[in-house]
Amino acid sequence: MRFDGERAYQRLQELNFVRPSGSAEEARAAEMIATQLRSYGLNPTIEPFPLWVYQEKHAEVKVLAPYQEVVEASVVGLTGSTGPDGITGELVFVESGEEDFLNGIAGKIVLTYGFLRVKKYERLVKAKAKAVICIGEPGKDLMHLCIRETCLKRFGELPAVGIRYEDALKLLKAKAKEVSVICEQEQHEGESRNVVVDIPGTTGEEIVALCAHYDTVPYTTGSTDNTGGSATLLELARIFAKQPPKRTLRFIWCGSEEVGLVGSINYLKQHEDQIERIKLLVNIDVAGGIIGRNVCIVTGAESLRAYAAALSKELGCGMNTELGISSSDSLPFGDKGIPSLNIARYGGATTYLHTCDDAIEHIDAPHLAMLGEYAEVFIERIANAQVFPFEKEISDQCRQDIAKYNEESQGMKPKKKDEK
Ligand SMILES: [Zn+2]
Repeated sequence: MRFDGERAYQRLQELNFVRPSGSAEEARAAEMIATQLRSYGLNPTIEPFPLWVYQEKHAEVKVLAPYQEVVEASVVGLTGSTGPDGITGELVFVESGEEDFLNGIAGKIVLTYGFLRVKKYERLVKAKAKAVICIGEPGKDLMHLCIRETCLKRFGELPAVGIRYEDALKLLKAKAKEVSVICEQEQHEGESRNVVVDIPGTTGEEIVALCAHYDTVPYTTGSTDNTGGSATLLELARIFAKQPPKRTLRFIWCGSEEVGLVGSINYLKQHEDQIERIKLLVNIDVAGGIIGRNVCIVTGAESLRAYAAALSKELGCGMNTELGISSSDSLPFGDKGIPSLNIARYGGATTYLHTCDDAIEHIDAPHLAMLGEYAEVFIERIANAQVFPFEKEISDQCRQDIAKYNEESQGMKPKKKDEK
């Protein structure tokens, strides 16, 4: 094996800054990735795409009655602004936002557990909530997330902020009745970009794609999610650039994954003519944690899962292998019929995902190498096989899971049968 964990760790250190979707820092990271690839003798392209971006300005929740207190909060991106004086109203707890709890919430400020997925956002807009306070997970710092652009376009603005679980518990126990929500952000059309490079194969038309998103949510270096994956992909590019396999390897560093898989969706839109040629995708999202467990989620056929599991046994790297989908850039590929391996290291630092605590101290070189070596061997075999070892096929269950995900998270209408 040639994967060098120390080199991957160096790349991680260089890229380990906050890189939100559509920001100047994200653009800088794309340039750095491209520069690194050129140093391997490769010829990358930076492929821009338009999207809505936001910058957090200020968020807070003020309890006005029956006691007074200021609660720290984060902006939920793309939900609009309240203005500096905020929106004041009666607070109502609606659990996780199930329909059963939404009667009579018109004109009120809603406190709800969990994130604003499309369907929940739609329900709250239709029930005429005035503003929303989302409760985070126990022990976790404030999350800096946004709703999907599609969600904003379809249902309009409903100012929303996030607070910590512990603060929400206090609000409920102390029976906070009247609150003011301040949510200030700038929303505008912007640009993000994918970095794409080919290592041309020595024979044939078939492509094996590799992918990792390099953006972060605001305020975090996203060191495991996904600076680790981005650095791992760079090290894989270095290795294979020296010794190209039979099949073409296409490396894609996706921008704007964190705001709704926008980079991968745009990649597929911009390269529709290539979809046929791409036989398989290896996606790395969340990597490098010292403490954790290795996971390989296969969106494809059982034969692919079995192969991935057997390889893990052979290498002794303890991949927990299962058929399913991953909320990552592989999903739009799966939607286009391209099977994928989603390699990740969960647990440990993933408790901190999408918060400031997703930091480099959770990561070391040997644990970057653990996933990197597995990916290296897998790709080497697949890309050099005499005959492509798997049908380009996705199990019915995975297809159903993708459709459900698209409907719930992206607000897409379910596809009709036979529709591609
Ligand atoms: Zn991620």
